[in-house]
Order: sequence, then C-alpha cells, then structure tokens
Amino acid sequence: MGVAEAKTEALRVPGIHHVTAISGRAQQNVDFYADTLGLRTIKQTVNFDDPGTHHLYYGDRAGTPGTAMTFFPWEHAAHGEPGSGSTEATGFSVPPGSLEFWTDRLRAGGFSPGEVVTRFQEESLRCEDPDGLVLELVAGPATRETSAGRPVHPGVPPEFAIRAFHGVVLDIADPEPTARLLTDVMGFEHMGEHDGRIRFRGDEHEVGSIVDLRAAGSGAPAHMGRGSVHHVAFRARDDDEQESWRETIAAAGFSVTEVKDRCYFRSIYFREPGGVLFEIATDTPGFGIDESPEELGRSLKLPPWLESRRSELEARLPKLMLPDERS
Ligand code: ZN
Repeated sequence: MGVAEAKTEALRVPGIHHVTAISGRAQQNVDFYADTLGLRTIKQTVNFDDPGTHHLYYGDRAGTPGTAMTFFPWEHAAHGEPGSGSTEATGFSVPPGSLEFWTDRLRAGGFSPGEVVTRFQEESLRCEDPDGLVLELVAGPATRETSAGRPVHPGVPPEFAIRAFHGVVLDIADPEPTARLLTDVMGFEHMGEHDGRIRFRGDEHEVGSIVDLRAAGSGAPAHMGRGSVHHVAFRARDDDEQESWRETIAAAGFSVTEVKDRCYFRSIYFREPGGVLFEIATDTPGFGIDESPEELGRSLKLPPWLESRRSELEARLPKLMLPDERS
C-alpha cells in the first residue's frame, strides 16, 4: 500500500464543525436562536471578509465544534430560493421525548412547526426560522452529547435542550458524485436510504455526524439568499490534520483554497460536486481564545487585524440585545 493510500485510510471527518447561514435583521436572529431555541450566543464578531456586518455564533455552553450555528445577518439580502446544490435543512439533535415541548414552544413563539415524522428510527420536527431557514429537531437516543454541556436557558428545561447538530440535508441534482466524495475521500459511511434520503455518517461517536442527500433531479439550481445556508464546515482536529485534508482533497481533483485564519479556527474551502460549498475547519484554537467562558458571546470581539477599526465598525453595526439583557 502506498503512502497516499495509508493517509487516506487514516483520515476521516468526525462530523460537522459549524453551519453558516444568511439571515435578515440581526436582532431577530438573536431572538430566535438565543431565546426561542435557547442556544448560547457564543460569539459576536464581524464577517472577516465584510467587516461592516456581523457574524453571530450560537452553540452549546462552550461553542464546541459540532454545535456552532453561525449567521451572516444581511438585512437587505433577497430571500434565497431552494433547489439543487443547496443545504435544504439543518438538523439539531434533541433528547428523546422533547418534541412535544419544542412543538409547543415554537407555536408559542409564533412559529408553525410541522408534524413529527419518523425517519431512520428517529423522530423529527421541521420548522422554519424567521427568515425561512429550514431546521429539523431530531430526537434520537443514539445521538451524542458534547462534554461542555447543553446551553442553559430559563425557558428550556435542561432535559429538552438542544444538544448539538444532528446533521445536514443536501439537495443535489445527481447525488452519486457527492456520495463518492463523502465515502471515498471524506471517510463517511453509507447508512442506507429512507424517505428519499441517502444517509451518510462520519464518526458515530461524535456529534453532528450525519449528511443526508436528496436527489433534486433536473430541478432548478438553488439561489443563495436570506434564509439559505451559505456553507457547511466539517471538522479537522488540528492544523496537521487540516493540511492532510488539503492534500487529500486536492489529490481527489477538487480546487481547494489556501488556509484562512478565522481567529477561532482555521479554514479551507472547496465546492463539492453537487454545488454546495464545503469547509474544513480546525477544532483549535476555539472560541475561548479571546474571552473567558463566563463572558463568551456577550460583547463584540474583533480579530487583531481589525481592532484598530473598532469605533468605526461599532458605529456601523446594529446594537444587539441578548435575551438576559432585555428585562
Ligand atoms: Zn465557515
């Protein structure tokens, strides 16, 4: 066996690191994710490629990789259009027996969750966030917890709180090349098919390890906008593992970016064959690099190279109020 083969065999994506989507008004986004869903606001920063706009992160108590749902709030962005080459839904893992609570809580917040359906022996509740982003709350006993602990919110009993990502659902015109990337390059396991979804799983001991593919056929390509997922990031445990991924992905014929410093992690990006933007992000250094565990997410943090522009950026960004700052 050659060196390249040995390396490919050793590499396996544990699961999702973060999912980044486009929202409308930032405060509305905070109200939904930090209050209605009860996630912790892990980081308030700016979009490093567009620093006049926020980048908001929500997650478990520490923003553990596999729990970080992030948003670019672009208030005036047009709505996205579903279609092929898109992340159709983002799934969160919730404890078994919690979907009645979540149905009531979403309805009380003015949202319209669907009926609970069973898929791959897991109960799943679909709803849309205020911008139309499709979410699924998936209640399954086999899904994992993070060691940092579920987020704490006074309106969400701990036994019902969101644990981490469950996975993502991708709509792909022809799922076959994407399936081959997942299994042959990224180390996912094919788990079977149900209800029009082909399921793949990364490391079964990790959170957020599921990728479901749905065949979008000859349907129109998706248009990204408000209420769309921008990209899905998978985990590399450290910089060395990320470098191995860069070589492996390039060797598989994909055009992959240089490493970009995202302050809380380092990132590489490539477009999978179906059109969805994939990222591989390092677990290190993490969200604790610039604030204490207690203060996480409570004030605007800027990377060192933007700190000199703080007053200008603070003047441009909308003021945000977290749920516990409101009373
Ligand atoms: Zn990202």
